[in-house]
Amino acid sequence: MANQKDEKSKTAKLKDEILMKKDRGIKTISQEEIQKADEFCKGYVKFLDKSPMEREAVRYSVELAKKAGFVEFQQDKKYNAGDKIYYINRDKALALAVIGKNGVKNGAKLAIAHIDSPRIDLKQNPLYEQNNLALFKTHYYGGLKKYQWTAIPLTLHGTVVKLDGTKVDICLGDNEAEPCFCITDLLPHLAQEQSQKPMSKAFTGEDLNVLVGSRPYDTEDEESELVKLNVMSILNEKYGITEGDFISAELCLIPSFKTRDIGFDRSMIGGYGHDDKVCSYPALMAALDAEIPEKTCITYLTDKEEIGSDGNTGMQSDFLRYFINDLAKVDGIEGYRAISQSKCLSADVNAAFDPTYPSVYEANNSSYLNNGVIISKYTGHGGKYDTSDASAEYMGEIRTLLEKNNVLWQTGELGKVDQGGGGTIAKYVANMNVDVVDLGVPVLSMHAPFEIVSKLDVYMAYRAFYAFFMD
Ligand code: MN
Ligand code: MN
Repeated sequence: MANQKDEKSKTAKLKDEILMKKDRGIKTISQEEIQKADEFCKGYVKFLDKSPMEREAVRYSVELAKKAGFVEFQQDKKYNAGDKIYYINRDKALALAVIGKNGVKNGAKLAIAHIDSPRIDLKQNPLYEQNNLALFKTHYYGGLKKYQWTAIPLTLHGTVVKLDGTKVDICLGDNEAEPCFCITDLLPHLAQEQSQKPMSKAFTGEDLNVLVGSRPYDTEDEESELVKLNVMSILNEKYGITEGDFISAELCLIPSFKTRDIGFDRSMIGGYGHDDKVCSYPALMAALDAEIPEKTCITYLTDKEEIGSDGNTGMQSDFLRYFINDLAKVDGIEGYRAISQSKCLSADVNAAFDPTYPSVYEANNSSYLNNGVIISKYTGHGGKYDTSDASAEYMGEIRTLLEKNNVLWQTGELGKVDQGGGGTIAKYVANMNVDVVDLGVPVLSMHAPFEIVSKLDVYMAYRAFYAFFMD
């Protein structure tokens, strides 16, 4: 008699055959693979710390790309299979291409992630003094829960263009020896009225004022606004800028804490800006590691996704289209033909199921930490508005690709239908007549100053982009 315990029942065998496996997560992954994930994430942590802003992300990515043999793109130059090029858009977006054996004659493979993240931008006329305190007026960038940005240390990043045209980069507050900044919040003792209000009214955009100084300028003269003057004189001394220079500046405040391991098992990473550096880095590394592919592979790191992808550095700009046109021209085909045959992974994050807030998720169609990369057929909101809904055919192609390459993957929809929504760059890529689907990393506390991802998922994103490029 066969041992019943060792042998699967007929029904269990049938289940194996025709039902999806319930357990497709980290338990199916070897310790060796998990170690590779931990190792890969060391590079990611460095990237995240060095690249909070899009300009910094471009700079650091180019540094890594140059080390990997990438050279600056030259228009009208005929490239050979295996050539590696990079092309910068206004210091804020970056295309990296590895030329394939067929060039772009049969289309290109695109992995597109964004390098901007929610933050607090300074207004054009930010500095003011009130009750002997100096403050900055701000306008937040992207979708954020305003209360999360109060009472935490903030650091100042950005670029100022002076009247004479010279540029100054500012980065102040990351180093613990440097000062940082803070948006004050009301003490609970006096917050009775505030706490009765809905969140959107309890914290308004105009409340996000940043404390930047409190000592008056040292003078015998009877002058007003000496605290403001003192702050401006420090800025003038350090950076050579005057108040008017704020008008031609892009300055913003971001959390000043460093990226850290999370959990006793160090399985997760907490940090600012995982959305969407957690897809940017794997997509970048996939391009850096790509050997000679069949089709030209392009990783594009775009800007402005968090505010709708508008602007000449956003995905709605023609920059990428023109770049592919340029590549097509030397390959002897029309740009639109190259674009129409291209395929894209829109590399962006999605919300991981949060056990503390289960009511907003639909458990069967949510993504989970440690279950691998998420494919999202569509994003958008109620009734599939504002999204590119990937075709069955393209979903099939990507699913097969991931299975074939043993990439741990899952599907994921943002939350319950009618619960809310969000979008990615996928729909703008689809508008170019390109097959596209969202593929990325699940994130907890998305858009918070400190977001959380799993190391295994980050590594699986890299494996997915690499497999996509080399397939
Ligand atoms: Mn994103
Ligand atoms: Mn986002």
